[in-house]
Amino acid sequence: MLMSRFYYKCRDIGFDCSWEVDVPTNKDVWAKVRIHNRYAHNEFEIPPEIEEKIKKAIKEK
Ligand SMILES: [Zn+2]
Repeated sequence: MLMSRFYYKCRDIGFDCSWEVDVPTNKDVWAKVRIHNRYAHNEFEIPPEIEEKIKKAIKEK
């Protein structure tokens, strides 16, 4: 089974925030980002321009 990891750091899109995520699928990144942005950054819906930045900031290893 091929294992990969998806990484994302909140500060990579410009937030002054040390939160980061390291999960097995891209879907898990988005699930966690939505919850994090809601509670930590008061973003109940992620704006399209932020979504684009997040897409570029997600790294797969
Ligand atoms: Zn954050």
